[in-house]
Amino acid sequence: NREIHLVERPKAAPTHEHIKVVENNQPEPGSGEVLLKMLYVSVDPYMRGRMSDAKSYVAPFQLNEPIEGGAVAEVVQSNADQLSEGDIITGMLPWKEYTVQKADGLRKIDPSLGPITTSLGILGMPGLTAYFGLMDIGQPKEGETILVSGAAGAVGSTVVQIGKIMGCRVVGIAGTDEKTSYLKEELGVDATINYKTENVSEALQEKCPNGIDVYFDNVGGDISDAVYPLLNKYARIAQCGAISSYNVPNDQGPRIQMHLIKSSVLIKGFTVGDYQNRFSEGFQQLSKWLSEGKLTYEETITEGFENIPDAFFGLFEGANLGKQLVKVAEP
Ligand code: NDP
Repeated sequence: NREIHLVERPKAAPTHEHIKVVENNQPEPGSGEVLLKMLYVSVDPYMRGRMSDAKSYVAPFQLNEPIEGGAVAEVVQSNADQLSEGDIITGMLPWKEYTVQKADGLRKIDPSLGPITTSLGILGMPGLTAYFGLMDIGQPKEGETILVSGAAGAVGSTVVQIGKIMGCRVVGIAGTDEKTSYLKEELGVDATINYKTENVSEALQEKCPNGIDVYFDNVGGDISDAVYPLLNKYARIAQCGAISSYNVPNDQGPRIQMHLIKSSVLIKGFTVGDYQNRFSEGFQQLSKWLSEGKLTYEETITEGFENIPDAFFGLFEGANLGKQLVKVAEP
């Protein structure tokens, strides 16, 4: 019975040095357990994160233990009431040809809903990611422009389609002409960008003439840097992934996206002017806190009109503590 173990933690791109096939004994199911024959294993970008021992939203894989992930398997022996021989299940399974699992935690697949593999894709974790990320964070409205990076992948290709269902203009970024043709011809995406052959900034301007209302980001990095300037007022970013940084050694990354994902941060920019009609509410609250001693503040006061420029430059060197002011004259 073969298993696949993580034997060394990759620092950059994972290779065969890090992941090895290992022979082990065929397990026997105990009471309440089933013997499963692995049918389909899902490999997912997030697994790269679990190969590192850095703190994240899921525990790291253990060294010299099977890697585990989403999978579809067949029950070949059952000592559990809920499952019978021949049932097809999905769950988080160790990468083993045969594995023994408790029946709880496995979900029986209804094959009438679609091919069993869809439980690892559009009807599984990637599909749900696309749906909730777009609908809940992206909040797409008819006529808006949705930009999707990693558009031809599992998540991205679902996002672009939901975007079309919602009546949006959908633009997809992907890394080959084959993928961009697929997006246009099969999925009805309005415009595409091949980020490997096109200048992404220029292409974005051309293909998103009305700016971007929803950015569903799967990749982060340089592509996202090119996207940010085109975001419209009240645009929403569903920061789903940052795959461009997953293999970047820690001292060179990760960029902001990893932190956003780990902590489920909603990216939303604003200017204070957005809240203009609530200014008096804000003022009253701040004054109250200040008078109660719940707020305090610092000022850095530069003397002399001629020193206004230096005071200003100093802001970019962090010369100020608290509010930087310039005292020009006595009252
Ligand atoms: P995909 O099917 O999209 O596969 C990954 C794709 O990413 C590749 O096909 C490749 O397409 C693209 N890619 C790889 N390296 C780079 C790079 N350096 N720059 C730009 N694109 C790159 O995977 P998934 O659909 O499963 O996942 C997509 C993203 O969503 C991942 O970042 C993943 O971690 C994230 N994710 C997040 C979840 C969440 O809960 N937040 C859940 C599921 C996924 P191309 O040819 O276009 O480069």
